[in-house]
Amino acid sequence: MKNFVIYTLYFLISFLIFAGMEKDSITNILKKNAEIDSPGAIIFFTWIFILSAIVYLFSEWILKNKDAKKEEIETNYYEPNGNLVQNIQSHDPEFDALQFQKNVGTLVEKLNKAWCENKMGNVRNLVSAGVYNRFKIQLDLMKKQGIKNVMQHWALSSVDLIEVATDEDYQTAHIQIFAYAKDLNLGYDVSKEVIEKLFSEARQTPYTEIFSFVRKKTGKTFKGKSLLEGNCPNCGAPIEGLGESNQCNHCHTIINSGEYDWVLAEITQVEVWNESQSSKNINLSEFKAKNKLAAKQIIEDRASYLFWRYMESLAVGSVEPIKRDCKIDLANNWISEKILYSDIAVGAVDLKEIYFEGDEIFAEVYIQWSQNFNPEESLFTLSLAPSANKNSGLAENSCTNCGAPYPDSDAHACEYCNHPIPKVVNDWLLTTIEDY
Ligand SMILES: [Zn+2]
Ligand SMILES: [Zn+2]
Repeated sequence: MKNFVIYTLYFLISFLIFAGMEKDSITNILKKNAEIDSPGAIIFFTWIFILSAIVYLFSEWILKNKDAKKEEIETNYYEPNGNLVQNIQSHDPEFDALQFQKNVGTLVEKLNKAWCENKMGNVRNLVSAGVYNRFKIQLDLMKKQGIKNVMQHWALSSVDLIEVATDEDYQTAHIQIFAYAKDLNLGYDVSKEVIEKLFSEARQTPYTEIFSFVRKKTGKTFKGKSLLEGNCPNCGAPIEGLGESNQCNHCHTIINSGEYDWVLAEITQVEVWNESQSSKNINLSEFKAKNKLAAKQIIEDRASYLFWRYMESLAVGSVEPIKRDCKIDLANNWISEKILYSDIAVGAVDLKEIYFEGDEIFAEVYIQWSQNFNPEESLFTLSLAPSANKNSGLAENSCTNCGAPYPDSDAHACEYCNHPIPKVVNDWLLTTIEDY
């Protein structure tokens, strides 16, 4: 409607200029018309009105069709750079880059659906603990603020393997995705009619992100039987119907550990991705000789998980959500302040320092993040006791008997199988949080 007013003014002004150039004033035009038959002013404005209406309706029709076309976007799977593929195939000759990109496309769609429906449990098996908790806690925090994110006309336009990084233990495949969506943050009580109206006016906007997949260097491709295609990466059994459990029904392997197959471990905005790439390489061999959990990918995913748990603890003003993942000292001296941040985003999670203190290993992880578009920098120190020995790589600690996630409460037994839950998990524990 705003356009219609603009068009009317446009035609009115152009007509007046035109009339002026013809050395004929507007009053003359009006007078001339008036002499012929009817009041000239009415005819003049009627013509302006009709002309504007035609242009307005035509432009709306074009925009609508343009929108409809965007929805039919076909996904492009680019032929990846040969050197990148070679880099992966030198560890895994069966690796099929094009198939991998297609599987990633399917995962992006599943993730999107789970996010929109607020059912992150549906993708728990397909992503790392850090990624799963990020989405789950983000949704919880938005709900606490009375906000929900709604999306329409989502379309994936390309999936492209752009970088492969190899460290001592893991390979990371970075995939750039381009997509379009109408994306709105709305109040929980906004009616369906209002949502439809807002969407009809919203534009389908493009966005791009880097999805980083991690796999142990010893992992291998089994054609048609990958985690992203819905199979246990160890025995190939279908993982459908596992619900929130992260354990295969047949071989009891932890599915999303990254030990056997690619698992989504990070989603980064393109702008910060370049920076996070340049992190220094720390030699971890002396630490890994003591404990296999001293791997960069495992530490960073764990820190990312702890960051989101910390945000949840702040939101509820209690140590409870992070208690099982903290060192006793930190949990006992927790200062319970309630802070509900909005628009939390994590840029980089980067292992900076690692050292021994006695038998214990300490890791300092730098976290670059923002809340409500204010930049923040934190340093999380994690510690690993000699007795910590979990076997699930990048996956979250879960019930050792049935694989179900631990409850958010301080319950002492698994709610699915009644197996006892430890007070503190067997993993890297949060020791201190400082401003960087
Ligand atoms: Zn299995
Ligand atoms: Zn259980």
